[in-house]
Amino acid sequence: MNVSTPPETFRAEALAALIAELGDVPVITEEKVVRRRSRDFFWYSPILNEELAEKSADIIAAPRHEADLLHLIRLCVKHRIPVTPRGGATGNYGQAVPIERGVLLDMTGFDQIEWVKPGRVRVGAGMMMGRLDQELKGSGQELRLHPSTKRTATIGGFVAGGSGGVGSVTYGGLREPGNILAARIVTMEPEPRVIELRGDAAQKINRAYGTTGIITALEMPLAPAWPWLDVIVAFPDYPTALQAGLAVARADGVVKKLLSPIAWPLPSYFGQMKPACPEGKPILIAMASEATFDSFADIIASFGGEITHQAPTREEPGQVPLYEYTWNHTTLQMLKADRSVTYLQCLYPHDRLLSSILETAAMFPEELIPHCEFIRFAGNITASALPVIRYTGKERLYEIIQAHENHGVMIANPHVITLEEGSRHKRADADQLGFKAEIDPFGLLNPGKMRSYQPSK
Ligand SMILES: Cc1cc2nc3c(=O)[nH]c(=O)nc-3n(C[C@H](O)[C@H](O)[C@H](O)COP(=O)(O)OP(=O)(O)OC[C@H]3O[C@@H](n4cnc5c(N)ncnc54)[C@H](O)[C@@H]3O)c2cc1C
Repeated sequence: MNVSTPPETFRAEALAALIAELGDVPVITEEKVVRRRSRDFFWYSPILNEELAEKSADIIAAPRHEADLLHLIRLCVKHRIPVTPRGGATGNYGQAVPIERGVLLDMTGFDQIEWVKPGRVRVGAGMMMGRLDQELKGSGQELRLHPSTKRTATIGGFVAGGSGGVGSVTYGGLREPGNILAARIVTMEPEPRVIELRGDAAQKINRAYGTTGIITALEMPLAPAWPWLDVIVAFPDYPTALQAGLAVARADGVVKKLLSPIAWPLPSYFGQMKPACPEGKPILIAMASEATFDSFADIIASFGGEITHQAPTREEPGQVPLYEYTWNHTTLQMLKADRSVTYLQCLYPHDRLLSSILETAAMFPEELIPHCEFIRFAGNITASALPVIRYTGKERLYEIIQAHENHGVMIANPHVITLEEGSRHKRADADQLGFKAEIDPFGLLNPGKMRSYQPSK
């Protein structure tokens, strides 16, 4: 290229060279397909829906194995072409949306279990978590935690983009030591390296949006696969639903995987579960083990809760497990009927948990519908929350965020694309930033997502 070459021409030349040199690595160049797959669930945010509507990769590459991937990355670095990894594209903040075009890297070819041992599994990063849990059943084990998108999301996408979910009431989020055991990654260098990150080092790729390495395999801890019951409990009011949920969360002998207090009118949007959601009443959705169910039911009864639904958790095609009404599926159930709402992601202080949930909700009676998820966090029971917010404009949304923060509630803002603004601490993790400099000197991995990184070359 000479200095007067327009960037568009340079990009087209680089892409043509990449495709010519790729050999038999599978690619998709059809514009319509590339545009469609360049989207994730960013449309939950009216702000991102505007910002990202036109973004697309140039092509999709779908390596079948590590040799394909190394060949592809070598060429992308040579031609300075950005690469955005994609798993199931169920992320919420445009995490898998290519901001600077380039290659959308479909990782779903890495979908095999390498081995299963008591308490852990080693698996390709592109394996869908639903299938993974299904295959683990034979060993009597399952993932400790998974997002409510388990049936459509990959384990690599969860580690690179998610935070916690079903199971976090017992095991905490992905950040808790021991919840990611190891990751194998490919670097974005002229001669890409394959690196094994073990223990604490694996945090370098946790929720880094794929900016700190392409994950090809993960070693994840497992839990016993209990026979689970899906349960809905109705309560007279939301504070009582919260108190009952907290009591179950704190009852260490009661085995559970999910405790989600959800305020009315959210249950009125719950489709086929509506008959189990009495008019006007808040509910607690739970996954409780059959083995300790009587103790679960005793606690619920002591708070006056009425069990309106109780059935074994069913995840096979055609069935809808109750966890698909929780976490960010709760928001989705309402969005299906009403696109004028959006949501926030909150983490409440554990030492004034119920008061901070109720006080912040009371500040916005017409605009906020409470929905919490009990979790363990650094050894304490607390709640994260995805309250549904009536959207009347960006300015008002940011006022609501500010009011929560002033009240000591941490917000991971789901209306921004950078991992700094999207984090509770508003900055990139120092280890992740430093590691990026080591493995992506040209800033080609998912550019635009780690704002504080300045490429060294
Ligand atoms: C209805 C709904 C409910 C949800 N519930 C939850 C929840 O309970 N908990 C939760 O944490 N999240 C939740 N999410 C967000 C999302 O579904 C999860 O984080 C999910 O695990 C993402 O996996 P994915 O395969 O779809 O990843 P993608 O969306 O494809 O990717 C996510 C990020 O990871 C990167 N990435 C993907 N694969 C790799 C790889 N192999 N190497 C490096 N980087 C990679 C991508 O570039 C992107 O930045 C929800 C989203 C929706 C729409």
